[in-house]
Amino acid sequence: MAKKRKALIAGNFKMYLSSEEVKRLARAISDFVSQKKYEDRDVMIAPPFPYLMAAVDSVNPSFVSVGSQNLYFEKEGAFTGEVSPLMVKDCGATYSIIGHSERRKYFFETEELLRKKITAAISNGLIPVYCVGEKIEDRNNNRHFDVVKRQVEEALREINFRSDNLVIAYEPVWAIGTGVNASPEQAEEMHLFIRNLISGIRDKNISENIRILYGGSVKPDNIDSLMKMENIDGALVGGASLKAEQFTRIIDYRI
Ligand code: PEP
Repeated sequence: MAKKRKALIAGNFKMYLSSEEVKRLARAISDFVSQKKYEDRDVMIAPPFPYLMAAVDSVNPSFVSVGSQNLYFEKEGAFTGEVSPLMVKDCGATYSIIGHSERRKYFFETEELLRKKITAAISNGLIPVYCVGEKIEDRNNNRHFDVVKRQVEEALREINFRSDNLVIAYEPVWAIGTGVNASPEQAEEMHLFIRNLISGIRDKNISENIRILYGGSVKPDNIDSLMKMENIDGALVGGASLKAEQFTRIIDYRI
């Protein structure tokens, strides 16, 4: 069965690994993907900032892309500790994860800030992977659609994005790093909801072609059933992306 959209399997290494470990893992992933020569899926890895160039140098860019886990929206300036989209681009990266729930939680990132980051990424030729998702109390109180609607609309409403320069990742907070993944049906329901929101803010063509990834405890044993869902176009993988054996099995999903 062929998927409607080209899939994207992305690995978020978070704040883990040494430079040697990043290089080894990036090489192993790249070797695997280069052999497979997939035409129906893209692969991206997002190492910590200091290892962006090492990761870029370790992969075959025809098969594996590299992304940052964050960026700042200014081009340059007195912003100690921040990294601009230009710098990310200059390292050879092509994607940037924006608005991961850990950034929202620990660094108080708001939709207003994330809108600026997404805009800056796109205008510098980077593809943002914009993360949205509700907390467990939102889902328990049946507010999950309202929360995701606000996250999507407030950050994206004023941006002229296309389907090929933005990726959305639905990552329910209760599923990240917990070992409890959303069921394929729960994820599919939210992905369809997000796709309809995109149709409202942009148009039907963009909404039908934009990629919406699922993230939250994706593992080799649940990827196949998630990817069978019509509106799940790939995965953003945290923990399981740190082990070549697990991540390559996820990349090699079968539907
Ligand atoms: C993530 O970091 O985006 C993530 C989904 O983590 P995990 O796969 O470990 O739940």
